[in-house]
Formats: sequence, structure tokens, C-alpha cells
Amino acid sequence: LFSGPCEFFAGVMDLNGLPPEGAPEIAFAGRSNVGKSSLINALTARKTLARTSNTPGRTQQLNFFDLGGVFWLVDMPGYGYAKVSKKMREEWDNLIFSYLRGRPSLRSVFVLIDSRHGLKDVDLDLIKMLDAAGVSARIVLTKVDKAGFQELKKTTEQVEAALKKHPSAFPFVLPTSSDKGTGIPDLQVAILELI
Ligand code: GDP
Repeated sequence: LFSGPCEFFAGVMDLNGLPPEGAPEIAFAGRSNVGKSSLINALTARKTLARTSNTPGRTQQLNFFDLGGVFWLVDMPGYGYAKVSKKMREEWDNLIFSYLRGRPSLRSVFVLIDSRHGLKDVDLDLIKMLDAAGVSARIVLTKVDKAGFQELKKTTEQVEAALKKHPSAFPFVLPTSSDKGTGIPDLQVAILELI
């Protein structure tokens, strides 16, 4: 499934453009530069599926990819970029919250957290939105190859302690590295369990 066909079929900037529900959806979200494109590429064994980009805050759209008709992977626009205007932030909130609230086929949102940086307020804002929308969340730690052992332990403890307060969130993190392939099979299994 993950090494088979994976096709981009919709880039959605407002809810009118949302494709009608067709397959279970798994979404990926995270702060700009958290390593989301790299993780999606590692997950689907592609090099260029999701554009890795160093110009965060640029395009605000939900990108839909069809994984062999079995499930749809939804790449959410990155958030938390300092230079984004208040208006753009509000647009992001509106788009994301209305998508989360009105999408029964959305099985879960994987929220990516940099293993060196831990949870930030903007991540908690999203997790609160997931609580409010009643959508389940799983936290994925990214770039574990860059974190030292103590750093990884500290982040894991910080994140898992915070998750206890959020009904939407699965209480354990999934450590990954797109560069080294760490945790990618576990992520694939987690997705299979959800769809
Ligand atoms: P996005 O903005 O969330 O899509 O982040 P990208 O996937 O574009 O990654 C941001 C930066 O982090 C890039 O320079 C990547 O090469 C780097 N990066 C992403 N994943 C990893 C990882 O697992 N390990 C390391 N060392 N670097 C990573």
C-alpha cells in the first residue's frame, strides 16, 4: 500500500473546493519546518510527493493524496510561522476547524512535533481544536536523529504529560526520523489500524 501508487488529486483553499468524501482520511499537521513533507515522503517511499520547502507560510491549502483508493492522506498547511499575518492565521483557523468539524471520514490527525523543541502553544491550539471537533490525534516526534538521548526523553515526557489533559489525543508519542527511517514502519501500522 505505502509503496504503491500515491496520487495528488486536490489542493483545497476553501471548503467549497473540498472533494466529496470517498475513502478514510488521515491528516498530517505541524509547525512549518517540523519535517512534515519529509515524513510524508518517507512514509510513502517517495522523494518528491510533498514538496519540501523552506518558505513556510506560503501556500495555505489542504493537499489530498490518494493511496491506492484505500485511504486519502491529507497534508495540512504548516502553522506557527512568525511572519504570517493575523488575517492569514484566522483563515488557517477557519479552514482547519471547519474541515475538522465536518468530516466524518477523517479518522485521525497526526500532529508532528520536533523532538528537540517539544510542544509549543501553537501546537496546543491545534490539539484544543481537535478536542473541540472530536477528532482523534496522534503525536509524532520528528527528527529524532538530531536529538540527544536526554533531549528525546525530556520531550517525550513533556509531550506525554501534556496529552493527558486532551481527550482527543492518544497518550503516547511516536518517535520518527525521516532521514534514518526510524519509526516509519510503526507509523504505517498506526495508519493501517485507523483505516
Ligand atoms: P515541513 O516544512 O514541515 O514540510 O518540513 P520539511 O520536510 O521541509 O523539513 C524541514 C527541514 O528539516 C529540511 O531541511 C529537512 O531536510 C529537515 N528534516 C526533515 N526531517 C528530518 C529528519 O528526520 N532528520 C533530520 N536530520 N532532518 C530532517
